[in-house]
Amino acid sequence: MKYTELTPDNFLEEMQLISPQVDTERLFKVWDYALDAHGKQQRASGEEYIIHPMNVAYILAQMEMDCTTIAAGILHDVVEDTKIGMEEIESEFGSEIAQLVDGVTKVGKMEYHGRKDRIGNQAESYRKLLFAVVEDVRVIFIKLADRIHNMRTLKYLPEDKQKHIAQETLEIYVPLSNRFGITSLKWELEDLCLKHLYPDTYKEINEFIHEKKGSRDKYVSNYVQMVEQYLKDSDIKAHITGRSKHFFSIFRKKLKRKLSYDEIYDYTAIRIVVGSVTECYHALDVINSKFHPLPERFKDYIAKPKDNGYRSIHHVVISEEGRTVEIQIRSLEMHHEAEEGSAAHWRYKEFYEINTEGKRKLALQTETIAKQVQWLRDFLKTHPLEDSATFLKSLKNDLNVDNIIVKTPKGEYVELPIGSTPLDFAFSVHTDLGFKCKSSKINGRIASLDTVLRNGDTIQIQIGKEMKPSKDWLLFLKTSKAKQKVRSWFRQKELEDAYLLGQKLFDRYYKKTSKVEKRQELLKSVTAVFKYSGVKDFLTALGRGVIDPLKVWEVINPPIEVNVDEKELLPTKPYDNAENVISLDGIDNLLVHFAKCCNPVRGDEIIGYVTRGRGITIHRTKCTNPAFKDLLIKESERIVDVVWDKKSKGKGLYPVRIVIGSMIKPKLQDKITSTILRSKVKIYEQRYVPEKEIFKLFMTVLVTDKKSLENLLTKLKKIKGVIEVKA
Ligand code: MN
Repeated sequence: MKYTELTPDNFLEEMQLISPQVDTERLFKVWDYALDAHGKQQRASGEEYIIHPMNVAYILAQMEMDCTTIAAGILHDVVEDTKIGMEEIESEFGSEIAQLVDGVTKVGKMEYHGRKDRIGNQAESYRKLLFAVVEDVRVIFIKLADRIHNMRTLKYLPEDKQKHIAQETLEIYVPLSNRFGITSLKWELEDLCLKHLYPDTYKEINEFIHEKKGSRDKYVSNYVQMVEQYLKDSDIKAHITGRSKHFFSIFRKKLKRKLSYDEIYDYTAIRIVVGSVTECYHALDVINSKFHPLPERFKDYIAKPKDNGYRSIHHVVISEEGRTVEIQIRSLEMHHEAEEGSAAHWRYKEFYEINTEGKRKLALQTETIAKQVQWLRDFLKTHPLEDSATFLKSLKNDLNVDNIIVKTPKGEYVELPIGSTPLDFAFSVHTDLGFKCKSSKINGRIASLDTVLRNGDTIQIQIGKEMKPSKDWLLFLKTSKAKQKVRSWFRQKELEDAYLLGQKLFDRYYKKTSKVEKRQELLKSVTAVFKYSGVKDFLTALGRGVIDPLKVWEVINPPIEVNVDEKELLPTKPYDNAENVISLDGIDNLLVHFAKCCNPVRGDEIIGYVTRGRGITIHRTKCTNPAFKDLLIKESERIVDVVWDKKSKGKGLYPVRIVIGSMIKPKLQDKITSTILRSKVKIYEQRYVPEKEIFKLFMTVLVTDKKSLENLLTKLKKIKGVIEVKA
């Protein structure tokens, strides 16, 4: 907003310059009255008091307010600061002006003691102000004009008062000016707040901008020319300007994106103002064809205006040199609205309409203003006479539409979206702080991690030594960045756990196998069999159950090879006829086969595993195959109880591997063989393996049931020279 030095001598002249429609004669009367009323009062600056109301009136005129509002602006401090009462204002200037003045006049200027009184007074004053705004929305414009002039002249007050007023402005008046869409006013207020709350930061930004101005202006004007040419080539008439960011938005960007001033300032910002909505989109097409667009940063506030009525297209593109260019595209009408806010819709004569009863009624000309007034009405309704502290807190919180600003214990600002929690705060300060977060304090009091933060809260995070995120966090985290971090942490953790489990499984199989390769070699070759590029990937897949452990076990420990013609020697039963030897819940004719790892024999306690598409595999209940033990746990739902079918008793032959260790003695091998054959047990295959002083016979025999096997084993053990028999 333009700043003009006003004196009692040039006041009316300046007013007429910016607002020719204003009734100067009427204003003169009001001004003369105020001048008299304030008399010799002085402001903290030492200036005559009247300078302040004059400036407030001037700001209102800049906002194109009507004469009544400007007049009320001149009188706004008369009742609060002089002995003149509201009745006098009313009889002098009418009820309309009196109502406006009353609306901005604080509740009771009585002496108060202590914090509680002060908060009570403050809350009552706001409540009164809001009620007045609901009655006549022009009150808010006077209050905002008043605040901006006070902020401009804040330096004359003592420092603690400066900070207090700046804080209040940031919490209440900035969001109010945003809600009513007066962008230029909001920006100025924000920068003034920054200046007084964070003088060092303000100075830093100021110096930085000063230093970089020359080079920046050059490349911005390059872009302006370039875009101008592109649009001209496409027959779009446009007014293009480089845009400088106000200080607070640089500050905010720094908080939000954690960029250095250099990086923020490198952002080239351009505004394109065209004639119509159609041309806005036309211009957008041209931009997209010439630059590389960043679709994730595209925002169409024309199709979906902001709550405060703001309309524009916001776009970010990357230029050929890799520079980020922020582009705003809007029509002239939108531009006007954005600069002056919803007040711009209102020409002074449009404030009232005559209703059917011939009574003047406040006309809400814009949807935005209607919306905001409705919001205030609802707020007052839902916050009746609650206690003052709560009222103030709710007001500050609810006023903010987008983000809240909270503080670290060191007083640094952190901006977060509404609904954020202490955990969001922790993650936004530092990822580590988030992951190690154990508990939190808000304004010195212990608060759970899912408490919703309010504007101005100071948050302290207590951490543990280790990262201990919880999946519950995902339920209440507000910021997507933090959610993303927690999610990927758990994903990573799951992969690591799976890798460890895969290692354990593999090692267990490795211990049991008879293979002589070194662990690492075997692991590599098995990895290759399952077509994984690395052993880590393979083990992780094994741990996650992507690979069937049984298959891994089979690769590590393949069944003993039979060196004879398999077809000829394969036992016909029970393989052929297995359906008839097993029943499951009384159902026979099942497709079954017998596990090679434990070779169950009729009479053994057995259990069935329902395979995927290959019927039921029968294992002994005591099967020691580690892969099968894993299945018992992991796929217990596939394990079924089976029994030997009584009807098939004596029909099947079951292969059993036995090992017989004996002294090397003449004819002993023959004796063993004949003992087996006499027991009516068939020998399926055998291998003779001599060792130093003994030999071993590895045999597969075919028995009818467990009993005949046990008989055989007993007989074999009794043969002289036989040392050991194992089945
Ligand atoms: Mn004032």
